[in-house]
Amino acid sequence: MPTGASGYVGRFAPTPSGPLHFGSLLTALASWLDARAAGGRWLLRIDDIDTPRVDPEAEEAIVRSLDAHHLHWDGAIVRQSDHEERYRAALARLQPLCFACRCSRRVLGGARIYPGTCRHLGLAMGESTSIRIRVNDGRIEFDDRVQGHHAEQLAVESGDFVVWRRDDMVAYPLAVIVDDEAMGITHILRGTDLLPNTPRQLYIADALGVRRPSYAHLPVIVEAGGIKLSKHTGATAPDNRFARHNLTSALNLLGFEPPPGDVPELLAWAIANWNIYKVPATNAFASFIALS
Ligand code: GLU
Repeated sequence: MPTGASGYVGRFAPTPSGPLHFGSLLTALASWLDARAAGGRWLLRIDDIDTPRVDPEAEEAIVRSLDAHHLHWDGAIVRQSDHEERYRAALARLQPLCFACRCSRRVLGGARIYPGTCRHLGLAMGESTSIRIRVNDGRIEFDDRVQGHHAEQLAVESGDFVVWRRDDMVAYPLAVIVDDEAMGITHILRGTDLLPNTPRQLYIADALGVRRPSYAHLPVIVEAGGIKLSKHTGATAPDNRFARHNLTSALNLLGFEPPPGDVPELLAWAIANWNIYKVPATNAFASFIALS
């Protein structure tokens, strides 16, 4: 097991709402390769706080798939459901920037940018309120290792955003940045579907005064019609019996042409030849390769 002497710590953080579909396998593979090629550690975190979406059998299925594809993680599995105290402590630190908001989704009528309705009302935080963080007019900028430079003004893109939900649950951007910090994550590789959320996470990181991780957003796989392959679209899990074939297909999409070999040979080749700058800088791979 690598000691992580390189200082690199990566992670794979699936939401257990279904088995690992091919797009998640590709993300897991790329992030594992990036960590192993750097001589780093690779951790597995199960993002299981969104309880209505959690499928009790999914974690086991995900773990089985990772094992079958020889994508072994370091240390014990980490679960977001164990971290509520940590999230509340971070919320307390953000308190000076936050306010309670009683606007329901229906009241906001699907507005993309929060209009600031409750910003100055001084409502008490409690039942039936969410908690939003005030954004400023500054730009959030970062260099994505695959997608390039990214700059966004939150005031224009989202407005004050939710860090704690009305159902008294931490919101994703707060949970993820708090956990990445607590786990010492230095490098994140994940799908471009999460790119729009990254400036919010960085805003929180800056507000908490924690170090920003480095990001790489990988193309997601879309089905015909441009819909992201996901558990919601009923994407089927790759067959674990065809691990070599699945990994080869994923490597091909990532821009690599591995020679034939068994799974350990394939992965050893991929570590030796890994170069993140070969990964296509697009939002999505246009079509799904049928796996047999
Ligand atoms: N749990 C998130 C998902 O499965 C990913 C979180 C992340 O990689 O930051 O979409």
